[in-house]
Amino acid sequence: MNYLLLLKYGEISLKGKNRRHFENRLVENIRSRLRDFEFLLHRRQGRLYVECNDLQVIPILQETFGLVEICPARKSTLDFDDIKENAYLEMLRVIGDEERTFKVDTRRINKEYPLDSMQISRMVGGYLLRRMPNLRVDVHSPKYRLEIEVRDEVFMYLERYRAAGGMPYGTSSGSILLLSGGIDSPVAGYQMARRGVILHPLHFHAHPFTSEEAFEKVRELTRRLSRYIGPLRLNSINLAEAQQYIRRDSDERYFTLIQRRLMTRLANRLARQLKAQSLSTGENLAQVASQTMEGLRATHAVSELPIFRPLISFDKEDIVVRAKKMNTYEVSILPFDDCCTIFLPKTVVTKPRLEDIENEERHLDMDALVEMSWQTWKREYV
Ligand code: ATP
Ligand code: MG
Repeated sequence: MNYLLLLKYGEISLKGKNRRHFENRLVENIRSRLRDFEFLLHRRQGRLYVECNDLQVIPILQETFGLVEICPARKSTLDFDDIKENAYLEMLRVIGDEERTFKVDTRRINKEYPLDSMQISRMVGGYLLRRMPNLRVDVHSPKYRLEIEVRDEVFMYLERYRAAGGMPYGTSSGSILLLSGGIDSPVAGYQMARRGVILHPLHFHAHPFTSEEAFEKVRELTRRLSRYIGPLRLNSINLAEAQQYIRRDSDERYFTLIQRRLMTRLANRLARQLKAQSLSTGENLAQVASQTMEGLRATHAVSELPIFRPLISFDKEDIVVRAKKMNTYEVSILPFDDCCTIFLPKTVVTKPRLEDIENEERHLDMDALVEMSWQTWKREYV
């Protein structure tokens, strides 16, 4: 194989006894994400390496949760002449004959090696200076830092590609991701998945009042999310019939909140079915009337499970930046109808009192609405 990539993972190394579990999951995830490439994956002494023939794997690895840095590296034997020669070849490949500052940093993991790390750095640095007159040493803020790791073999690298960080997908339990067609919820899903949480996306529609295009848009958002974490199954529930009752029997000012509480109950139901431990939403404090502290409390009140809202404190602009970066923005802004917006009431209560909502719901048989809507639950690969 032509290339060697050293994969660095950050927080995982802090996990003590769980470390093995995290590493195993990371390795499995990498294997499945690189399945279209020829590669070998090695795990040695707390380090992962990929050997491959195609540098196209780098952007994929950069998007793999749990990895913090990808470093194209060069391997050498323990023979010191070989180390020097490889250091030279690597510097030549990356820097060429441009005038640059550099320094050499060595980590000697193999304590039997006769030279210590300071000696190695100094001697390799001196050798490079002799062979490459375009280089100057700068130990404080060098433009390039050649890292040499002395193990049972020697690895050295000069280039570093930043990766997504977080925890390997699948190292935490499942969460029901309430996925609308909007900008926020896909970003919320990304944030949760980045902490290792397994996502079960759930979309509420109101067919035939909402269109097939609107549903297709949510499928596309799900596909785009799955780029980071592998195949996802999209759950959907039809709220159309329940909405008719809510409209008929309750004060329209409470319509949005009652519907939110219905969604929350149904999401809890799905969580039970799929053995998920939480719900996740794209809610964001004060963004709209239903997302005031009182509004959030009212939805929370009917949830058995914790509701995670990773975007709670974000500014809309920050969410948009993330949505663009993760490639969902242009889909999210497609102007299709949404089940929450088709029957928008003229006025809403922004600071609803929980008792008032509960009173309003007494006009309805909420259990029956849950049961009726639950019957429309579908699960599909997107
Ligand atoms: P988004 O951009 O995610 O749609 P939003 O700013 O439009 O968010 P709301 O429409 O009030 O906000 O929805 C808040 C959250 O409630 C969403 O982020 C999502 O998690 C959930 N939600 C809203 N509508 C639906 C739906 N039709 N299906 C599933 N979840 C929904
Ligand atoms: Mg929305």
